Amino acid sequence: MILPLQPLWIVIGIGLWFLLFLLVTGIIIVGVVWWVINSNSDSADAEPTGDPTATSKDDATVTDPVCGMTVETETASAEADYHGDPYHFCSEICKDQFKEDPEQYL
Ligand SMILES: [Zn+2]
Repeated sequence: MILPLQPLWIVIGIGLWFLLFLLVTGIIIVGVVWWVINSNSDSADAEPTGDPTATSKDDATVTDPVCGMTVETETASAEADYHGDPYHFCSEICKDQFKEDPEQYL
């Protein structure tokens, strides 16, 4: 007849582990809920900032008259003026070719 005496410390041990489990689970749930609420408000704030009025990007590209490459005017490797018009080139090589005989490329 040892059976009825045996479970007391096991019950206490399981009870403690169960309380610890509840505590950890509660913290995790609160953390997840907090994170979901925060990330929702973040994405709600982020949506209007992706605003479609930024139209100036595409205006900054021109075609290299020598090789036909698309060149960004901001980052063009070489520039030249011919009859007052600015021309942009992908490289100094294209610019030199253009300067040798501009009429050929216009
Ligand atoms: Zn080129």
